[in-house]
Amino acid sequence: MSEMNNIKDYLKSLGASKVGFADVNGLASEFIDLPNAISIVLKIPKETIQLVKDESYEEYWASFHKQIDKLTEISLKGEEYIKNLGHNAFGLTMTRNECDMKKLLSILPYKTMATKSGLGWIGRSALFVTPEYGSAVALGGILTDMPLDFGTPITDSECDDCTNCQDACPVDAINPQKWNDRLNRSDIIDIEVCAEYIIDQYKSGLGCTKCMSECKLTQEYLKKEE
Ligand code: SF4
Ligand code: SF4
Repeated sequence: MSEMNNIKDYLKSLGASKVGFADVNGLASEFIDLPNAISIVLKIPKETIQLVKDESYEEYWASFHKQIDKLTEISLKGEEYIKNLGHNAFGLTMTRNECDMKKLLSILPYKTMATKSGLGWIGRSALFVTPEYGSAVALGGILTDMPLDFGTPITDSECDDCTNCQDACPVDAINPQKWNDRLNRSDIIDIEVCAEYIIDQYKSGLGCTKCMSECKLTQEYLKKEE
């Protein structure tokens, strides 16, 4: 079995739900010697999504952060595994990928790695969407110089005529425009309106993740037997 299949199986054995490979040459300027990316998708457990529906936001965030901890562990173990094969690697954990919190800039957006790997697309909600779990996913990644067989990048929305997230948004922050990789995030969502609402809700111990929980494909995932 090739090194590439081995790393995919290894990451899945640690709990990754989906793993893909992307050419990110030149996109992460600090890491030009690591031109390949491994995108890691972790599904959010159904019980965690139920907490949003029950408006138990404190428990929801505690549960969500456990998923982020799991992603961190998978990325760092993946980095070690690749290094042991004689290649270089850098696990892009959440902490390592936050290079400018004020401007919300990262070394390389997880969504870029994931769409370029062909694992899903950006939904109307500006969230990353997978066919299997909708937008109920958390993303991670690893940069490496290990040769990888890249997936086919997804460059256009596959949301079709669905508008569930747009209809569910309490403050109309989601624009009718569907994503393609030539657009900016501000073309599809008014992030300031969304952020203002979330901050307001947060003050009352609540939150808003309706575009994730009400996504048509998240709903289909919730109904699936696993
Ligand atoms: S998080 Fe809430 S306010 Fe923001 S876009 Fe989604 S549904 Fe709208
Ligand atoms: S609810 Fe529909 S339009 Fe919104 S992200 Fe999900 S599939 Fe796309």
